[in-house]
Amino acid sequence: MTEIQRRGLLIILSSPSGAGKSTLAKRLMAWDPSLKFSVSATTRKPRPGETDGVEYFFRTKDDFEAMVTAGEMLEHAEVFGNYYGTPKGPVEVAMREGRDTLFDIDWQGGQQIRRSSLGKDVVSIFILPPSIADLEQRLRGRAQDSEEVIAGRMAKSRDEISHWAEYDYVIINRDIDAAEAELKTILEAERARADRQPGLNDFVRGLNKEFEAR
Ligand code: ADP
Ligand code: 5GP
Repeated sequence: MTEIQRRGLLIILSSPSGAGKSTLAKRLMAWDPSLKFSVSATTRKPRPGETDGVEYFFRTKDDFEAMVTAGEMLEHAEVFGNYYGTPKGPVEVAMREGRDTLFDIDWQGGQQIRRSSLGKDVVSIFILPPSIADLEQRLRGRAQDSEEVIAGRMAKSRDEISHWAEYDYVIINRDIDAAEAELKTILEAERARADRQPGLNDFVRGLNKEFEAR
């Protein structure tokens, strides 16, 4: 198959906590291993099963602030009383290589990246839960947070949901398989856009040469 040179996409997934974006991000990565997951830095403590450098870079507040001061963050925000931020370096490398990067970040981070010089390469997708009752059930079902943390996340979810219209696409995550299929469709369509494939000029030039040689 002919590989057409393509610009890397910045795929931003946001949702209220518990709506299913980490689950969808993992499924998308399994479907396309060439996708690069942007590992954020955070000052929150690791949950059981989380490993430093895999889900997050777990950092102290001082270390996090030093990264911000050194200009190493593409965006950062305070979420649920902790700091979260996207390290710039890996994103720049992926963009240079024409690889797509997946971000699991909140609306504040989404807004900062969309408004940055990288904004034209952003595809942003908001995940909604089918109901607030489902959202709460999923947060509890995950069984990784204390009652106090769950209550805090539920209280914030209304605010997060209020930003849905800032996104290019919205998926209601009723059935996880259906939501995954929608996400893949969006990605395939965005990758096929003419303006995202600078390599098409050369490709069509090759087709024309073929015409001329007939
Ligand atoms: P987020 O990353 O948005 O906080 P998660 O991906 O951790 O959310 O999902 C929260 C919980 O909900 C997990 O236990 C996950 O397995 C479950 N979940 C995700 N999508 C669905 C769905 N469509 N139906 C039922 N449970 C779901
Ligand atoms: P959690 O603690 O559940 O892993 O994440 C809490 C929230 O922080 C989620 O909404 C998640 O998308 C968001 N988040 C994770 N990493 C980043 C980041 O680097 N920047 C921003 N702005 N938000 C992030």
